[in-house]
Amino acid sequence: MDTDVDAEIVIVGAGICGLATALALHRKRIKSVVLERSEIVRATGAAIIVQANGWRALDELGIGSTLRETAIQIQRGRFISLNEVEPMEFPFGVNKEFRCLKRTDLVKVMADNLPTGTIRTNCQVLSVELDPVTKFPHLMLSNGSVLQAKVVIGCDGVNSAIASMFGLHRTTLRLFSTSVARGFTNYPNGHRFSSEFVMMSKGQVQLGRLPVTDKLVYWFVTRLRTSKDSKIWKDPVLIRQSLMESMKGFPEEAMEMMRNSKLSFLHLTELKYRPPWDLLFNNFRKGTVTIAGDAMHPTGPFVAQGGSASIEDAIVLARCLAQKVFDNKNKTEETAINSAMAEEAFDQYVKERKMRNFWLSFHSFLVGKKLDTTSSIIRFIILAIMSTLFRDPDWHSRYHCGNL
Ligand SMILES: Cc1cc2nc3c(=O)[nH]c(=O)nc-3n(C[C@H](O)[C@H](O)[C@H](O)COP(=O)(O)OP(=O)(O)OC[C@H]3O[C@@H](n4cnc5c(N)ncnc54)[C@H](O)[C@@H]3O)c2cc1C
Repeated sequence: MDTDVDAEIVIVGAGICGLATALALHRKRIKSVVLERSEIVRATGAAIIVQANGWRALDELGIGSTLRETAIQIQRGRFISLNEVEPMEFPFGVNKEFRCLKRTDLVKVMADNLPTGTIRTNCQVLSVELDPVTKFPHLMLSNGSVLQAKVVIGCDGVNSAIASMFGLHRTTLRLFSTSVARGFTNYPNGHRFSSEFVMMSKGQVQLGRLPVTDKLVYWFVTRLRTSKDSKIWKDPVLIRQSLMESMKGFPEEAMEMMRNSKLSFLHLTELKYRPPWDLLFNNFRKGTVTIAGDAMHPTGPFVAQGGSASIEDAIVLARCLAQKVFDNKNKTEETAINSAMAEEAFDQYVKERKMRNFWLSFHSFLVGKKLDTTSSIIRFIILAIMSTLFRDPDWHSRYHCGNL
């Protein structure tokens, strides 16, 4: 484990959010170090849908055009209900820029754009404490060493160790009885699907299918969690078998896609969530420590925005910090970070992000609950709330987090 860390700013976690934060700071000429518990920077979950707001954020980071070359633009959507004797189809629109990125492409491009030595792997942070005298944070690592930093940004995901500093549960509550499986299917001679996002639904099983390239298709299946899930989640062969059992009655091309899915990318997740209202009643800044991405708002998959929101967090955070670090008049003179500066920057960041993340999280929560429930009364209430609060389907994707 390399713990020779001399950066003033320490980011915990090299997922989408941690890497985006380091890159955003780097673009603002601010040095940081990213501590990652794994041996390598990796991305689980096959692919990620990135909508127009996410692309704007990636453009701010200067990596949008490189990533666009890796994923085709989705042009339209189609919903197929398999609940009747004959399938019923409904078209739906997708927003201006809607693509599905391989997660490995996203994290690789981010990591490749960082200065050498920024990411320190094999560094698991157990906890963070504020020094009673200096007020700066100390990070306790799993190898027993203690690091001192001026600023800590927890981007350590849904089970964040840093979030516990804010009184948030380390293991977030399970609010859903849904499991999500994700994977890729490769078609060496090209697939027949057009640039279309297809959703199929039968009972409480939903299948989503999106092309990444002409030969690669990303799919996800949501279904009720079964007692077997916790036993099979490490075994892709059993996951695939279980999915195919759940998908009985789906069209043959969907079954074939599942049969031919790549075992190395198959992933089954039990959804962990934090209630959206936790976002309203927490400060998310303690001394010079804050959190971002899923550590702050585990938004889940239902509106496909958690990753993009994490990149937005990174941009706003870096912008707020840079405004304090550089002399406001000529923007070139860097001053050493002091606690007042970081605290003001983080307060501004939390203020800008809180409501944005609340609405995303709340919308995702409602969509998830609608899929989850078997009660038609609850479904009716959820639909009524959604049609009042989230009437405009493009609302989230039109959002612009501002320039870096
Ligand atoms: C099934 C599913 C589908 C989804 N689909 C989409 C989608 O299509 N579009 C979208 O925008 N979003 C989607 N999301 C949400 C998106 O995946 C997350 O919002 C995003 O990955 C959050 O990134 P993060 O960097 O905050 O957390 P993570 O990706 O979880 O990264 C956290 C990193 O921190 C490291 N770490 C954790 N603890 C420590 C520690 N103590 N010390 C050091 N390192 C640590 C981890 O190893 C990891 O590398 C989906 C989520 C799920 C569950």
